[in-house]
Amino acid sequence: MNIILLGPPGAGKGTQAHRLVAQHGMRQLSTGDMLRAAVKAQTPVGMEAKAIMDRGELVSDEIVSALIDAELAAMPDATGAIFDGYPRTRAQAEQLDELLAKHGRKLDRVIELQVDEDALVDRITGRFTCAKCGEGYHDRHKQPATEGVCDKCGSTEFKRRPDDNEETVRHRMQVYRSETAPILPYYEEQGLVSRVDGMGSITDVTESIDALIAD
Ligand code: ADP
Ligand code: ZN
Repeated sequence: MNIILLGPPGAGKGTQAHRLVAQHGMRQLSTGDMLRAAVKAQTPVGMEAKAIMDRGELVSDEIVSALIDAELAAMPDATGAIFDGYPRTRAQAEQLDELLAKHGRKLDRVIELQVDEDALVDRITGRFTCAKCGEGYHDRHKQPATEGVCDKCGSTEFKRRPDDNEETVRHRMQVYRSETAPILPYYEEQGLVSRVDGMGSITDVTESIDALIAD
């Protein structure tokens, strides 16, 4: 099973991908996570990507497709892939087709998470994660039970993404509309697109996705 989660920043792709990994033993391939890891490790790719990401613009198609190629090469054939944040341009969609063929895979579904745009800025500008275990929190919607302490692991360190400020978020939305949304017709022609209401609770959204994966 190979699926793409598509949707604007803040739609919940990463949250849902984590749940699919836990429930179905699939692997999440998030180019955003890979790039943030590269920035942290100060690799050549990371040094090139940092300023671009901080502005909310897109890193080059060649860089992200090379990251995906390496991940697919390292994955057991039987493990399903969840693409999260990739592809983001028409060129990346075509590169993904080539990479899947190269690694003996095919795309089963593209799931578009539909969300109300006003909710996105609110979701993104308040979000933060546990620095140790990655559990997600929110200033207004999901504070830890004890202030400053992670519910899951007890850590007292949290982090926020530098690109989660309002100005950059609005720019990321614009980039989504102009560069990423136009890849939907490419997948629609192949009959691969299903839509899920991303405004429900996290569990409701997971159930809708599970129903799609099951049939
Ligand atoms: P979000 O979906 O919340 O915007 P991501 O973590 O997917 O966040 O991406 C963060 C940033 O990383 C993007 O704004 C972009 O700069 C870069 N990035 C991630 N994936 C890609 C990609 N497939 N192509 C180009 N740039 C990417
Ligand atoms: Zn934690």
